[in-house]
Amino acid sequence: GRVAMESAGTSSRDQVVAVVGGGLVGALNACFFARRGFQVKVFESREDIRNAEIVRGRSINLALSHRGRQALSRVGMEEKIVSKGIPMHARMIHSLSGKQSPIPYGKKGQYILSVDRANLNKALLTEAESYPNAKINFDHKLEDWSTDTGLMTFLRPDGSKESLKADLIVGCDGAFSTLRKQFLRLSRFNYSQTYIPHGYLELTMPPLAGEFAMKPNFLHIWPRNTFMMIALPNLDKTFTCTLFMPFDVFEKITSGDQVIDFFQTYFPDAIPLIGVDALKRDYFRLPAQAMVSVKCSPYHINDKCVLMGDAAHAVVPFYGQGMNAGFEDCIVFDEIMDQYNEDFSAVLPEYTRVRVPDDHTIADLAMYNYVEMRAHVNSKWFRFRKNLDNI
Ligand code: FAD
Repeated sequence: GRVAMESAGTSSRDQVVAVVGGGLVGALNACFFARRGFQVKVFESREDIRNAEIVRGRSINLALSHRGRQALSRVGMEEKIVSKGIPMHARMIHSLSGKQSPIPYGKKGQYILSVDRANLNKALLTEAESYPNAKINFDHKLEDWSTDTGLMTFLRPDGSKESLKADLIVGCDGAFSTLRKQFLRLSRFNYSQTYIPHGYLELTMPPLAGEFAMKPNFLHIWPRNTFMMIALPNLDKTFTCTLFMPFDVFEKITSGDQVIDFFQTYFPDAIPLIGVDALKRDYFRLPAQAMVSVKCSPYHINDKCVLMGDAAHAVVPFYGQGMNAGFEDCIVFDEIMDQYNEDFSAVLPEYTRVRVPDDHTIADLAMYNYVEMRAHVNSKWFRFRKNLDNI
């Protein structure tokens, strides 16, 4: 295959930073490094999602909170993203009888935002590309890299390979990170991975007579103890409903009629809003997706490589903080870069020291909220708790 080599430079203006993964965290991180004047090269295994008809991601929409907004504001992107988000001031709890009761997230005026994942990712890619010193290489799948030389090998769709060295490799390649595989071979690298028994499935609730079928400024929750459904609003006046259930419950439902029976028992108010035919059809469109929690430490190798976002800490989605924590990683790293004059040999260990405990805490809170959302929100005790920053 074709081999392109680049050599290390000395000043920050010709030092090469390779960001592996052009998802949410990679695209944002590219902006942070480009602002500092590095030669930024992003490598993304997928094609350019801005030209793709169907964009497959981990969820259709997600909740953007304070941490994430702060990171966006550092690169001048907050307004652009917030203007396309839908504020959610409270959870709206749907009881079995169809009664709806709001539980505010915080004080009056505080809210989280429902944002479209594909739109957010596209906007961040476009922003990264607006820096003359940043380039995004799509259809470049990292296959392997050497911790000794830092040489990375990418696989192209035509089967050819490309190799490249960078001064710093930033791993933003998600929960199943290829970069992280090399960490596993190092001495004193801690790693744990846990799949929860639940899977998730997304369903669309269409507009009703041209309007949102439910109140739009809420994160709707149907807590049913061992499982739950949630719904977040979209700009096109649809809701994306996400059903979280143990895989063995998903597997017991094998026909359209069983889907309707199941919804009749647990989510009766949602049936007319999603629609009987759509429900029967869409439930079987895609298999339920798994959810994994990954913790590891350290996040870096020497002065060469650092992991951020899901590559460093995939969390279960029940705290709504996976992306937000990944965005905050970028801020924390950026501040340490200032503190240590962009000296990677000092910045990387400091980043691990500061960030690992916080990210591990987010992972624990997310696991805790896995129970909180489907069960505790049903309890009276919960309603008296105030000022929670979770979903
Ligand atoms: P990803 O978004 O996974 O991006 C990784 C990128 O790397 C992808 O573009 C991928 O194609 C690319 N890649 C992978 N391997 C390679 C390779 N070998 N070479 C090159 N490129 C590669 N978070 C929130 O903050 N709020 C929410 O409400 C929320 N809801 C969620 C709901 C669900 C159902 C799920 C599953 C997650 C949710 N999250 C939420 C978590 C959020 O999706 C992740 O934390 C976020 O996507 C992490 O971004 P990332 O860039 O680190 O990884």
